[in-house]
Amino acid sequence: MLRLLRETTARAGRRNISWSCSGSFVLGCRSTYRVLAIETSCDDTSVAIVDYKRASNAAKNEPGLTGSLRVLQHSTVTANNDAYAGIHPLVALHSHRANLAPLVKKLLAKCETLPSHSNHNVSDGPSIDLVAVTRGPGMRSNLSVGLDTAKGLALAFNVPLIGVHHMQAHALTSRLLSAMENVDTQQITPRFPFLSVLVSGGHTMLIDSTGLTEHKILAETQDIALGDCLDKAARVILTPDQLKAPYGGALERFSFDQDSAGHWNYNYAAPSRRQDELERRPTEWGWSLSPPLAESKGGEKSSRRMVYSFTGLTTSVERLVKSKTSAASTFTTEERRCLAREVQRIAFEHLASRILLYLSSSGNDWKGDTIVVSGGVASNRFLRYVLRKMLDVRGYSHIELSFPPVSLCTDNALMIAWAGIEMYEAGFQSNLDIGPLNKWSMDRRAADGGILGVGGWIPNCT
Ligand code: AMP
Ligand code: ZN
Repeated sequence: MLRLLRETTARAGRRNISWSCSGSFVLGCRSTYRVLAIETSCDDTSVAIVDYKRASNAAKNEPGLTGSLRVLQHSTVTANNDAYAGIHPLVALHSHRANLAPLVKKLLAKCETLPSHSNHNVSDGPSIDLVAVTRGPGMRSNLSVGLDTAKGLALAFNVPLIGVHHMQAHALTSRLLSAMENVDTQQITPRFPFLSVLVSGGHTMLIDSTGLTEHKILAETQDIALGDCLDKAARVILTPDQLKAPYGGALERFSFDQDSAGHWNYNYAAPSRRQDELERRPTEWGWSLSPPLAESKGGEKSSRRMVYSFTGLTTSVERLVKSKTSAASTFTTEERRCLAREVQRIAFEHLASRILLYLSSSGNDWKGDTIVVSGGVASNRFLRYVLRKMLDVRGYSHIELSFPPVSLCTDNALMIAWAGIEMYEAGFQSNLDIGPLNKWSMDRRAADGGILGVGGWIPNCT
C-alpha cells in the first residue's frame, strides 16, 4: 500500500498536483465502516449502502486485502429507452435526475434503524463513513448527476469521497463477490494477477490485471462493442414483441432450448485448432457467416492481431436478414434462431480467440490462474459455455473462469462501493474538485496515465 501511494505521489508531483490531506473525516483504525455508493455512468441509476469489515490484526498478516462486505441496501432504476433503438442520452439523464435523489433518500431511511459503527448517534439520522461514486468513463452529463450528488453527501456527512473508475469496478467484481461471501475477515480473491474480460454495451476488453490500479489492456475493440453487436443483431433477427431490453438477453432466450431438467441445449463443439475457428460453418439454409478478421488482408498474421472487431459480423447479419425478409424469400423462426445462435457462437469464439492467443504467446510468463469475465454480456450463459469449452479443448482446463452473478455483471452501485473500498484501503481518496471523465483509460501506458494519472487523488490520511 505504501509503495503504491509513494509511486502515485511521485507521479502526481510530476503533474504539478499537490497532495494535501482533505482534513475531512478520517476512518482511522475503525474495524467496520459504512459506504454509500452511486452509479450513473449510463442508463442505470444505482445506489448501494454497505458495511465493510476490516481484517482483525491476526488476519492482517495475510498477503493482499482481507475483509468482508455486508450489503445493507442496493437498488437500481433503469431509464426507459424502449421508444429508441438504444440508449438515448437525454432520456438517461432525465431518469438520473428524477430517480437518484429519491433513491438515496429511500435507502438512507431504510438504514436508519440499523446500528451505526461511527460515534454518530442513531437518533441524529443515518450515518455514512465514505461516499463512492462513478467518475468515468461514461456520458459526462449523466456522470455529473451522480458526482454532484455524491459531493453533496460527502460534504453533508463530512466524510471522504472516492471517484471510481467504472471499468476498474467491473474488473474487481469477482473480488467484490468474494468479500460478500466471506463470513468473516478472510482474504479477498482472486488475488492479482488475473485476466479480466470486460464485455458490455460500450466495451470489449481483455485486460491483464496485476494490481488494484495496474490493468494492462491486451486487446480491445477497434470498432463496436460485443454488446452493441448483439443488440444490433437482436434488432433485426427478433420480432418487435420479442425485442425486450436488454436485447442481448432477448437474443439469448430466443436462441436455445431448455430440457425438462432446465439445462440449456447448446449442441456445441469448440474448435480444437485455431484454423478451425477461422473457417465458415455452412448452415442447413445455405448461408454461413465469416468469423471476424478471418478474411482480413495480410492473411494469418493479420488475423492474429490483438484486437476485437464486430462491425463486419453485424453488417453480415443485417444484410442476410434484409435479403431474407425481401418479398421473394421466407425467413422462418427456425432459420432466425439458427442465425441468432451463429452470431453468438462466432462473436464468443472471437472473444475467446484473443484470450487463447495471449495465453499461448505468454507461455509461463503469465502467473495467474483465473480469468474474470464481467460486464452486461457476461450474463450470457452460452458465452460462459463457449469460453469454458474453448479453454478446455486448447489445454487450459486448469484456468478458472470467474463469472460474477448476473446482478453484479450489469452496471450496479455495489461494484462502485467495492472499488471505492479497495481504493480507500490502498490509501486513496478523491479531492472535492474532481469532475466527470468522459474518457478515462485503465492502462497507465495510455496518454492520460490510466486510473491514477488523471489527478484528483489525495492520500486518505489514515
Ligand atoms: P452494460 O453496458 O455492462 O450494462 O451491459 C449492457 C449490454 O449487455 C447490452 O448490450 C445488453 O444487450 C448486454 N446483455 C445483457 N444481458 C445479456 C445476455 N444475457 N446476453 C448477451 N448480452 C446481454
Ligand atoms: Zn458497465
